[in-house]
Amino acid sequence: MPSIYFTEEHDSFRAAVRRFVEEEVAPHADEWEAARAIPRDVFRRMAELGFLGICFPDAYGGADADIFFAIAFLEELARSRMGGFCAAVSVQEFMATQHIFRQGSEELKRRYLTPSITGQLVGALAITEPDTGSDVAAIRTRAVRDGDVYVVSGAKTFITNGADGDFCTLAVKTLPDAGVEGVSLLAVDLKAPGVSVTRRLSKMGWHSSDTAELLFEEARVPVSQRIGEENMGFYYLMEAFQLERLAGAAIAVGSAVLCLETTTAYLKTRQAFGKPLSRFQVLTHRLAGLAAELEAARQLTYQAAWLLQNGHDPVRECSMAKLVATELGKRVSDDCLQCFGGYGFMEEYPISRFYRDARAATIVAGTSEIMREIIARIMIEGEQPGRGRASAGVSEGRSCPVEPAVRAAIPQVPEKTVEGLMRSLPGRIRSEKVAGWRACFHFRLKDSDHPDWTVRIEEGMCAVEEGLQGSPDCLVQMKAETFLGIETGATNPQVAFMMGKVKVSDVGQMMRYVKAFRPIFT
Ligand SMILES: Cc1cc2nc3c(=O)[nH]c(=O)nc-3n(C[C@H](O)[C@H](O)[C@H](O)COP(=O)(O)OP(=O)(O)OC[C@H]3O[C@@H](n4cnc5c(N)ncnc54)[C@H](O)[C@@H]3O)c2cc1C
Repeated sequence: MPSIYFTEEHDSFRAAVRRFVEEEVAPHADEWEAARAIPRDVFRRMAELGFLGICFPDAYGGADADIFFAIAFLEELARSRMGGFCAAVSVQEFMATQHIFRQGSEELKRRYLTPSITGQLVGALAITEPDTGSDVAAIRTRAVRDGDVYVVSGAKTFITNGADGDFCTLAVKTLPDAGVEGVSLLAVDLKAPGVSVTRRLSKMGWHSSDTAELLFEEARVPVSQRIGEENMGFYYLMEAFQLERLAGAAIAVGSAVLCLETTTAYLKTRQAFGKPLSRFQVLTHRLAGLAAELEAARQLTYQAAWLLQNGHDPVRECSMAKLVATELGKRVSDDCLQCFGGYGFMEEYPISRFYRDARAATIVAGTSEIMREIIARIMIEGEQPGRGRASAGVSEGRSCPVEPAVRAAIPQVPEKTVEGLMRSLPGRIRSEKVAGWRACFHFRLKDSDHPDWTVRIEEGMCAVEEGLQGSPDCLVQMKAETFLGIETGATNPQVAFMMGKVKVSDVGQMMRYVKAFRPIFT
C-alpha cells in the first residue's frame, strides 16, 4: 500500500533486506538457536550488503540514509524468526555504536564505529547490573581516575553480545554519590585485562543471542576511551533511549506481522470438523482484531520515527510506540499459538519461538512499567515542548563575545518572572565555575511575553540581553512555566530534561550552564 513515510527506494531496500533474511538467515534459525550463537560471518555479510551502517555518515562507512530505511530494516529482521538475532544486530547498530557516533572522539569512531559498520567488530551496551536495571542512576560499577587511565571495578548482567562481542559501551560511576550526575560512558575492549565473562546466561527465549554477565576487576581503561564528557553519561543514555525504544517497537511490529501471516496460512490448511480452521469465525475475528491493533501500533511507530527524523523530541511517542507494539507482540504470539493447537506448543513449530521471544520485548530497552511512567508524567505535568527543530539557527562550536555594554543590572531579589529571573543571572554567576569558559546561549521560552533571550558567559562573567543575538553554542527551548519552575527551585532540571520538557541543542554546554549559577533565595 502507498505510504506517506516510505518511498520506492525504501521499498526496494526493504525487499533486499527481506531477500537476505529469508535466504541467508531464516534457514539457519534452528541451528543458531541450538548453538546459542550467531556466526561472525553473518555480521560481515550484512556489512557487505550495507546493512550495518544505515543511518551513519558516509565518512565512517555508513549509508547516510534516513530513519525509515532503518525502520524497514528492523521490521524485516524479524523474518529471521529469531528474537535473538534481531537483538544482536539492533544492539550493534542502534545501541552500542550510537554513543560512539554521537559523543565519541574521532579516534574512538575510527577504532570502534567504522569496524562495527564493516562487520569486523561486534559491540555491546552494558548498563544493567545485578542490583539495578530500570534505575540507571543507581549503577555501582566504579571508574576511578588514576593519571590517564580509569580503574574500573564492578559487574554487569544481561548484556547482549557480551560474551561473543569485541567491545562494550560501558556505563560507569565516576562520581559515586552524585546520582544522575555521576555517570560516564567508556568504550571498553571485552578481551582487555581485568574484563571477564563470568557466565553466559541461559534464557527462556532469544536463544541465538548471547547474554552475558561481565566482571570488571580493576580493569585499566585509558581516559581517551571515555565517550563524551565525564559525568554526562546519564544524559547521553537518555538522549539515545528514543532510538532504542523505536528499534524495539519496529522489531515487535515486524514479528507480529509475520506471526499473523504464519497463522493465517495455517488456518487455511488445517482442517477440523470437516472444514478449514479459516472458516471458524471465532478464530478469524480474533486475528482480524489483532491485525487492526497491529496497524495502529505500526502507524504510531512510523509517526514517532518521523518526529525523531525531523528534529522533534518524541519522548512521549517513542515510549508509547515501544509500550503498545511490544505489549501487542505478546498478545499476538499468544493468540496465534492458540490457533495452532497442540502443534503451537511444539518446538518444531516456529510459533512457539515467537511466543518465547516476544516475552523479552516488554522488559528490554525500558520495561512497560517505565514506559507507562514516562507517559503518565507527561500527561500529568503537561504537553512536552520543543516540537520545533532541535538545532534551528544554531552554529555549533562558535561562541559570541560578551559586550560590556549589554551587561545587565543586577536586582538583589529577582522578580519571579521570566524577565526578572533572566536579569538576575549576572548576579548569580559562580565565577570560579566558569573561569576560562566562553559560551553563548539562546533561550526560547514558549508562552512568555519575553520569549527570546541571549545569555553570554565569558571571563568569569555573564551578560544577558533580550532577543536572540549572535551565533549560539547552545539553543535551549522550554515553556516559560518550566523555566520559572527550574529557576525558582520548584522543578528539578534533570527530571524536566528527561521528560522532554527542556530541549537543548548541546547537552554538554547545558550541563556546564546549570552548574554556573547560584540558585535564588538561598
Ligand atoms: C534478554 C535480555 C537482554 C538484555 N540486554 C541488555 C543489554 O544488552 N544491556 C543492558 O544494559 N541491559 C540489558 N538487559 C537488561 C534490561 O534492560 C533490564 O532487565 C530492564 O531494564 C529492567 O531492569 P531489571 O531487570 O533490573 O528490573 P528492575 O529494574 O529490577 O524492575 C523489576 C520490575 O519492577 C518494575 N519497576 C522498576 N521501577 C519501576 C518504577 N519506577 N515504576 C513502576 N515499576 C517499576 C519493572 O518494570 C519490572 O517489572 C537485557 C535483559 C534481557 C531480559
